[in-house]
Amino acid sequence: MHTPAGFRPSHLLPAVLPGPTLAFAYRDAKLAVGGQEKAPTLPTCDDLVRAGLAGPTHYLGELDAVPCVAIALPDGTADAAAAAAGLRFAGLRSLFFTLSEAVLAIAARAFQVTEWERTHRFCGRCGTPTRDKPGERAKECPACGLVAYPRVSPAMMVLVTRGREVLLARAHRFPGAMYSALAGFVEPGETIEDCIHREVREEVGIEVTGIRYFASQSWAFPHSLMIAYTAEYAGGELVPDDTEIADAQWFAPDALPMLPTHVSIARRLIDATVARLRAAA
Ligand SMILES: [Zn+2]
Repeated sequence: MHTPAGFRPSHLLPAVLPGPTLAFAYRDAKLAVGGQEKAPTLPTCDDLVRAGLAGPTHYLGELDAVPCVAIALPDGTADAAAAAAGLRFAGLRSLFFTLSEAVLAIAARAFQVTEWERTHRFCGRCGTPTRDKPGERAKECPACGLVAYPRVSPAMMVLVTRGREVLLARAHRFPGAMYSALAGFVEPGETIEDCIHREVREEVGIEVTGIRYFASQSWAFPHSLMIAYTAEYAGGELVPDDTEIADAQWFAPDALPMLPTHVSIARRLIDATVARLRAAA
């Protein structure tokens, strides 16, 4: 996910809103939506007020000149309270193919903001209740001054090639027989390149070279920035690390296993690389 065309991000609520405001209201990880199951719609702030639904609110910006806010509803918000306003709670993943790409991207952004709101109510250093810091998307502690910004966790993804083959792995946590590129979170003190070398070594026991940037994607589960690369095999024996990886193999372009869905950057990375290898052959 990314910033959609037509979206003007801002954290400063304008003095005068130009019209109805779209409300991205989350209870825990679920978004309040109206409409039919196959054609969900976003409520406006007025819809939520009528239903008596309220919580800490953060301004997100304007999507095609329509103001958007993120609202963190209390965890105990009853389904019945939402139903009275024609709303229901739906997981973000379940909305992947029914919300427009732009609205889905704002919903993912809103989730990360509400998740930060829910998990930074108290200062991590002294336990005092925090407050919003004026002029920034930040929480500050009125007692000790600690400032907490929304968390974004960088992670790398790498598709390793060897001649015409690509290295795909199946993690224990993957559904079914799905294979994907290798991935892992950046650790303190590492560059992304350091992380690629370490993760590839840890997960499958090989060395890589020729690291090249591909693209990045915000991934709201819960707050990753996935940065994707290709790399070339440089040596070593393929030995999958059993704690994380169930299987890892070299695959030829015409004999690929089950792959992740098209919404993921993993699939774009694999498709683009396989197309390049095919063209070179
Ligand atoms: Zn504090």
